Amino acid sequence: MDEQNNSQPAGNTNNNKNNRNKMPRVNFTWIYVVIAIALGYLFFAGGEQDGNGTSKNVTYTVFKQYVEQGYANKIIANKDEGTVKMFVKPEHIRDVFQAGVEKTGKQPFVQAEYPSADKLDEFVSQQQELGNFTGELSYKRSNDTFMQVFWNLFPLLVIIFVWMFIMRRMGSGSGGFGGMGGIFNVGRSRAKLVEKGGENESKVTFKDVAGQASAKQEVQEIVEFLKNPKKFTDLGGKIPKGALLVGPPGTGKTLLAKAVAGEADVPFFSMSGSDFVEMFVGVGASRVRDLFRQAKEKAPCIIFIDEIDAVGRARTNNAMMGGNDERESTLNQLLTEMDGFGTNSGVIIMAATNRADILDKALLRAGRFDRQIHVDLPDLNERKAVFKVHLQPIKVDESLDIDLLARQTPGFSGADIANVCNEAALIAARHGKQAVGKEDFIAAVDRIVGGLEKKTKVMTEEEKRTIALHEAGHATISWNLQYANPLIKVTIVPRGRALGAAWYLPEERQITTKEQMLDEMCATLGGRAAEELFTGHISSGAMNDLERVTKQAYGMIAYMGMSDNLPNLCYYNQNEYSWQRPYSESTAQLIDEEVKKMIAEQYERAKRLLLEKREGHKALADLLVEREVIYAEDVEKIFGKRPWVSRTEELLENQDTESALPEKEEENTESPAQAPS
Ligand code: ADP
Ligand code: ZN
Repeated sequence: MDEQNNSQPAGNTNNNKNNRNKMPRVNFTWIYVVIAIALGYLFFAGGEQDGNGTSKNVTYTVFKQYVEQGYANKIIANKDEGTVKMFVKPEHIRDVFQAGVEKTGKQPFVQAEYPSADKLDEFVSQQQELGNFTGELSYKRSNDTFMQVFWNLFPLLVIIFVWMFIMRRMGSGSGGFGGMGGIFNVGRSRAKLVEKGGENESKVTFKDVAGQASAKQEVQEIVEFLKNPKKFTDLGGKIPKGALLVGPPGTGKTLLAKAVAGEADVPFFSMSGSDFVEMFVGVGASRVRDLFRQAKEKAPCIIFIDEIDAVGRARTNNAMMGGNDERESTLNQLLTEMDGFGTNSGVIIMAATNRADILDKALLRAGRFDRQIHVDLPDLNERKAVFKVHLQPIKVDESLDIDLLARQTPGFSGADIANVCNEAALIAARHGKQAVGKEDFIAAVDRIVGGLEKKTKVMTEEEKRTIALHEAGHATISWNLQYANPLIKVTIVPRGRALGAAWYLPEERQITTKEQMLDEMCATLGGRAAEELFTGHISSGAMNDLERVTKQAYGMIAYMGMSDNLPNLCYYNQNEYSWQRPYSESTAQLIDEEVKKMIAEQYERAKRLLLEKREGHKALADLLVEREVIYAEDVEKIFGKRPWVSRTEELLENQDTESALPEKEEENTESPAQAPS
């Protein structure tokens, strides 16, 4: 989950404690209470084992007087303590205590210290002779050993209590008393559980996830399996244990995972990767174990791990750097657990991350998170759909135009849009309105743009225009050059680290000719060329293009012998770390010059072509600003059919263009992470 959503009241309710309440556990609180009561009883009752009445401390003289007056019923001397107890005859209780039996109990006594056993003996036998005392004098040893032990241990007990209290505080965070997190629970997983009839049952289905058609289609299989596992296992089929949702924050990855659970009607465990790793060593691994144990009990179910990169980042094999042992042992445990349960156990793990490329390769291996589902920022139409979902609970007035809203929010994620809707409602409420109007939404958009500009890639109108011109430049040139890769889709929705992106269908070929390379280079430079020609400025947006072009040019000249001045020479050096260049200083200069010349030529060529096709380019850019995504058909409408039909295109003619898309996203002109080197 992301913090952008915090201000949204109806959003994700924090259901941290829910899960713990479900687990059977001995309530240690009651044990403490019982122990405390027992100790308290022993402490207060300990001294009175021989009587259950009131007592009174008197001097020895007073004691003697009482005995002389014939009040004594029984006399017990304790030699260890040097005290004597005299139990008072019932008829004299009032004389001694000035209170009735009902107050003092049946056996009240007075207690005094006696000077010596001999004196006491003498006195008692004297009184017996006189007939003042008819009972017996008995001696008794102290039997308060228990109390002595208790008092010796008391400081220790206090320390233990304090320690437990602190540990509990520390372990449970805000968990408080009821949770009893603490020392007994640090190894427990903190997973939130959403299940049928559960405390925070919230039925999210695919209906609640707007857009994301291809992602939904991919998870559909998981839903089918969870609903009817037998159908698959009977045929001997294997279902993936894990799916990785890859996409920027706020695009609905959590929502999608929840929707899968909702559609399949199974419990949903959700936990953030950072929850596994805490200050105690070994906690992460035991939390992973605990999570899987719980999940197996509830199977079929879904485990969702948000921000898996917190645990799943590639392990360092650099001993010098040390690495993070705690994280690594957590990751190892996760891998072990994923291997440990069979494909048919009914537990499916979905994990979310912003960057799949930093994850440990072991996590992505077959049988673990072997499929990646891309969840991208919504385009115009998808944003419209997201708005529709989030406008449902809001009272809007007629002036509102969803189309316009979607247009005004390029680069917003689903979470940003949810935020806009909520913010607009708050603004309207502040102004005491009956319904939320257009201007409230505009104000909300402004506010979100202001707040988020640094965090996410929210575009201004002008930037959007520039990106459209840039991308249209690529598209125009690649369409109009014979050997450039045919274009499939162009978008100006930010994606990964790139601003816009264009997808091409690379030819399936083993060797590439110089013409093909030059045409591609020209198309790659088309972005920057269009910016220069039509905005008058050049921007940082072309950096990745230039990097690719430069590398390509060096490759062509130094390794492939494709320049006129250095023909048929390959200076490829296998040993990456050698400082020695296999050519002279003058050759190095020549290479640099040739590279400059080649790129300059292609840049001029791109500009010429763009000027020639400026009408088409403008139409394309306008269409991009309007729709944000355009496909080959749209380009074809503007420039007409390409006269050169390649083999790959022929193959494609017989298929649905759309369905071929996901696998063919190979050449993303903008993102160096995805571009082939
Ligand atoms: P992520 O896990 O990708 O960071 P979330 O699933 O937590 O994003 O999304 C946060 C919130 O944004 C959701 O609760 C939902 O309100 C909203 N949201 C995001 N994407 C969508 C979408 N495609 N349709 C509807 N709401 C969405
Ligand atoms: Zn570009």
